[in-house]
Amino acid sequence: MTSAEVPSNWHFRDGAPAAGPLVILDLDGVISNATHRQHFLRGERKNWRGFFSSAGQDPPYETGLALAASIGDDHTVAILTARPHYVADMTRAWLAANEVRHDLLILRPRHGRGSGGPSAAYKRHELSRLRAAGFEVKLAIDDDERIIDMYRSEDVIALYTHSGYYER
Ligand SMILES: [Mg+2]
Repeated sequence: MTSAEVPSNWHFRDGAPAAGPLVILDLDGVISNATHRQHFLRGERKNWRGFFSSAGQDPPYETGLALAASIGDDHTVAILTARPHYVADMTRAWLAANEVRHDLLILRPRHGRGSGGPSAAYKRHELSRLRAAGFEVKLAIDDDERIIDMYRSEDVIALYTHSGYYER
């Protein structure tokens, strides 16, 4: 894909890779350990900005790092997260600091489709755009069962990992 075709919420680490096989990894609860900021989402009024803005302090999950590192260079690794656009720079710095193997980071866009609403709808839309760009999605991993159900409904092989974040 040419740079003009790349959606504004897609961040390639080293330029757009050639289309081909691709693995989707979720970030929070799979690679980054967001346990310390779950308290922002408890109670009547959820503090989403507080929750996302403190993501830079997340420790990585060793399992997530190893999982990403185990994916061969013949596959593109896309990190698809429902984090908002305003933590893009912080998230890119975190991925670099923790040497997370990946080629592409996708966050919610600033405007338009996927900027709000359920995570499953946003991720379904980004999945369709990855496919339209020529990527063959071989596997997706997420810690939210609603996202897993969405992937399976789209004929993507999906693996659930347990973070416990969705049990409140
Ligand atoms: Mg997650």
